[in-house]
Amino acid sequence: MSSYRVCPTCRTKNPIDELICLKCLSDISNALIITEENVVEQSKNETPTPPKQEPPQESLKQEILSDKTIIEKKESIILKHNEFSLEIFSGDIVGREEKGKEYLKNFPTVSRKHAKFTKELSGWYIEDLGSTNGTYVNQKRINDKTKIKSGDIISLSNSFSIKIEIR
Ligand SMILES: [Zn+2]
Repeated sequence: MSSYRVCPTCRTKNPIDELICLKCLSDISNALIITEENVVEQSKNETPTPPKQEPPQESLKQEILSDKTIIEKKESIILKHNEFSLEIFSGDIVGREEKGKEYLKNFPTVSRKHAKFTKELSGWYIEDLGSTNGTYVNQKRINDKTKIKSGDIISLSNSFSIKIEIR
């Protein structure tokens, strides 16, 4: 049986090894190939692939974009505990009667105003506010304002630890 390459422009049946239509000179390298028995083959470019991928990619892009916007706007860090996480903004004080009190009230060794977080040009800092049982960064008790980074473990007293996540 013989096959033809059908020109999409003028419908001429060209020999299968032609890439330019013999009649109208159109590019037929991607044109339909038919056989005498009407078995239609399609070249790679014309294989109907479901155009499903576009919308998800689009929405993913938007998600990332809006996420970034939120981060830049808020400049917050996350204190991660096994049972909860707290979002902290610059100037926030953490303690049994301050930010996070709904969780920290259950830890009697944490002071009412225990530690303060501040964001400066060079990064995030924590300072102890004269707490009874001290503030620790990676198990080292701090006396002065101390720079913290993502992944550091902060302990408010010996018995309560949280992990810092800076985004
Ligand atoms: Zn043609």
